[in-house]
Amino acid sequence: MTPLRIVFIASEATPFAKTGGLADVAGSLPNALRELNVDIRVILPGYRQVFEHGLRHERVFPSLNTLLGSQRLTFQVRKLLLENTAPIYVIDREDMFDRPHLYGNADGDYYDNAERFIFFCRAVVALMHSWDFAPQIIHCNDWHTGLIPAYMQSDPAFRQIKTLFTLHNLGYSGLFSSDKFALTGLDASHYQPNGLEFYGKWSMLKAGLVYSRAVSTVSPTYAREIQTPEYGKGLDGVLRSRQASVFGLLNGVNYQMWNPETDALIPARFTPDDLTGKRICKAALIRACQLDESLMERPVIGIVSRLDIQKGIDLIIPILSELIESLKVGVVILGTGDGEMQQSLQRAGEPYPGAFAFIQRFDEELARKILAGADMLLVPSRYEPCGLTQLYAMKYGTVPVVRATGGLNDTVSEVNERTGDGTGFAFKHADATDFLAAIQKAVSVYRMPPIWKRVQFNGMSMDFSWEKAAQSYLSLYQELMMDSSP
Ligand code: ADP
Repeated sequence: MTPLRIVFIASEATPFAKTGGLADVAGSLPNALRELNVDIRVILPGYRQVFEHGLRHERVFPSLNTLLGSQRLTFQVRKLLLENTAPIYVIDREDMFDRPHLYGNADGDYYDNAERFIFFCRAVVALMHSWDFAPQIIHCNDWHTGLIPAYMQSDPAFRQIKTLFTLHNLGYSGLFSSDKFALTGLDASHYQPNGLEFYGKWSMLKAGLVYSRAVSTVSPTYAREIQTPEYGKGLDGVLRSRQASVFGLLNGVNYQMWNPETDALIPARFTPDDLTGKRICKAALIRACQLDESLMERPVIGIVSRLDIQKGIDLIIPILSELIESLKVGVVILGTGDGEMQQSLQRAGEPYPGAFAFIQRFDEELARKILAGADMLLVPSRYEPCGLTQLYAMKYGTVPVVRATGGLNDTVSEVNERTGDGTGFAFKHADATDFLAAIQKAVSVYRMPPIWKRVQFNGMSMDFSWEKAAQSYLSLYQELMMDSSP
């Protein structure tokens, strides 16, 4: 069978540029699809971070151009010279992407993100016109790529191409004021509620939802949730109207990168049958975070997260004294984001030196050390499209305590305290009382070592590999190819 030809477009991908889970997905899924004989090419913005890796690259298009409003902008397309991975092409224009960060700095989003990502979408379309590669499906991801399905649909040259839009987080909608709309070059007829208008503004994400052939998101529960007013962020109506074309495909884990048996970034390796190395990791984490040595015999609970209201990390503040004084646990939080939340966490932890550590930075290595060295990982999200940290935690024998929402609901099964069946602990309502009850239950099971070990073993034995996840994307691609509707 001739391989399916796919172009996969995202605004970030590991190991080149990362702010969150989208990068992990875009860095792994195309490679897993390539293993399934899909002819897939990836397109990314040419951020400074991509070139900082010192990778060799070749200029495949030294000068292409596209319009941004009435201005004609030139750009280059470079291909990263990588081996045994899906080919990666980057859209390179310095004034757009050669910056210290991907989307903004501590003061907020870059003022010209509309220009930057309209340009990115238009540049991708210009590349399509010049390329000797004729994709059958364009797979777009999140708002940064949302205009591409709109351009594809209105360009006669691309009528045959199917578009899939994957939604990694409905909370980021690429919402811009009406005066920026003219930059898109789209006909004014699109600026209406059935198009990309959103309550007096317009949304790049909505464009992706409305104009793509199919929409997927990253877990079955989130696919259902986003069709309700509670989780739909005002777009639930649009999603309900497309119900038959909305799919929920669970993310995977790259076990070549996230595996305690081989991970060179953690202090010691370990397996489900021999957790000696995990104790070494725990001791190293306690030392690195200047926690009390006596926590070796008590639970250390970790958090690795963006500090955003979505993630529910604030829910720990009212229960911190209960956790530390009554349950006698240690708490390690690694995270950056919302300034107020950072301050509140800092203040809440001040009375507890030796039991509480809050590290405010983005640090991949420390993230792994927490995932490997902690006993439990908290993911109390108000909503969670899929969530990756709970999947990593399970692989490292760190038991997740999660809110039962989105992908957390689909990946963590409740522990039975008598038998040790299950992989973690879930709570229903996004409030501190329910959260505390779940942690209390986890701590009580921790105090029963044979049962706890069983729970750790169960989590470590779960298979959330990309091989499986990629197979579901391939089936969806094949379904799209059979769909002959206009
Ligand atoms: P989201 O994409 O919503 O941020 P996910 O759980 O899907 O959440 O993915 C988060 C990814 O970002 C994980 O790989 C996690 O380890 C990583 N991460 C989050 N915060 C930090 C941090 N402060 N330092 C290092 N890695 C982080």
